[in-house]
Parts: sequence; C-alpha cells; structure tokens
Amino acid sequence: MKIILASGNKGKIKEIKTLLPNDEVIAFKEILGDIEVDEDQNTFKGNAIKKAKTIYDMLKDKIDPKELIVISDDSGLTVPALNNEPGIYSARYAKVGATDNENNEKLISKLKEKNLNEADAFYTACITIVYNDYEYTTHGWMHGKVIDKQIGDGGFGYDPMFIPKGFDKTLGELDYEVKKSFSHRTKALDLAKKVLDVILK
Ligand code: IMP
Repeated sequence: MKIILASGNKGKIKEIKTLLPNDEVIAFKEILGDIEVDEDQNTFKGNAIKKAKTIYDMLKDKIDPKELIVISDDSGLTVPALNNEPGIYSARYAKVGATDNENNEKLISKLKEKNLNEADAFYTACITIVYNDYEYTTHGWMHGKVIDKQIGDGGFGYDPMFIPKGFDKTLGELDYEVKKSFSHRTKALDLAKKVLDVILK
C-alpha cells in the first residue's frame, strides 16, 4: 500500500522505509514541498497526532480518501536524571534547527553539570495513523543509558551516545540490524501494522 509519511527527519524516513519494506512510503515533502508543522503539543502523542492530521487535511482533497493513509512518528529521548530532558524537545534541544551534533553536545554538557558520566535513558516513539478521517496511535520504547561522549557514526540523533540495555556499545557503533530488532520505532510500527491490517480489511 501507499503510505504518506508526515515527517521531514531524514533518519526517521530512512528507518521507516526499511521497517515497511512491502509498502510504498512517500515523504510528504515530495508532494507538498517544504511545510513546517508547529510541534506545540506537550506530549509525543499530541505532536504525532497534530503532524499526521495536518498533512492528512492538506491531502484529502488531492488524493482519493480510500487511498490516503498518513503516518507520523513523534519521538525522542528521555533522561530521568535530567528532569526528563530532552523529551519532546529532543529535535530542538540546543536550539530550533539544531544539528544532531549540537543536541548531543548539549546533552553531554548537561550530564557533566551533574557530574554524571552516564545516566539511564529511554527512547519513545509514538506513531499516528490517519485513515478515513479517524486517527489511531501506538507507542514503543527502548531502554538503555546515555554516556558523556559520542562514539560511532551509525544511526542518527542521539544514537552515538545511547547504549541499549544488555549491550556495551552505542547505537552509533552497533550494526543497524541490532537497533532494528528492538527499537522504539520498530515496536510502535509493529503495532501500527496490526492496526492497518484491521482498518484496511
Ligand atoms: P521529532 O522529529 O520532533 O519527533 O524529533 C525526533 C528527535 O528525537 C530526533 O531529532 C532525535 O533527536 C531524537 N530521536 C528520535 N528517535 C531517535 C532514534 O531512533 N535515534 C536517535 N535519536 C532519535
């Protein structure tokens, strides 16, 4: 099936395309161009719904509603020892439009301020599907810890400083197949696929 992805994040788009190998996944920018959806909600779920609904509403007069499936992913990293930062601000932790490296360096400086060289952390992914004017939401989590340095250049975002539980290397160093087997995004998308199976029957 054809799925419009309500995300402009290149790392996410790449992962979601890999995780939905049997579907045609099209990033919304290929159809609508450069549109920014203001992520002003205070939960991953609120922002995921807002992104998917906004793109759905822009496309519903252009694409046959029976053919229109929009999926969004709002996600981020939570570090409880840092008052749950960066959380919903993960993409713009250092500043609006920050690079991954700037966000990672800010997180490292926050850990250092607290004299921490590592801290428990978890990723959250919230997936929203909008189909036939209804919205459906799923979540997935991945637990582990963050360290006060960046190692490896695999993955994206905070991956070079995130060590999944049970491993001793960062996601920047580990093969993508490891992340793919149990990531927050994999888990949320597996549930989303089950929802799609039912609503498209
Ligand atoms: P969003 O596009 O507003 O949902 O922001 C997502 C941000 O969370 C990204 O820019 C990354 O900083 C972070 N993030 C989410 N998922 C991952 C992941 O799988 N690896 C690394 N960073 C992630």
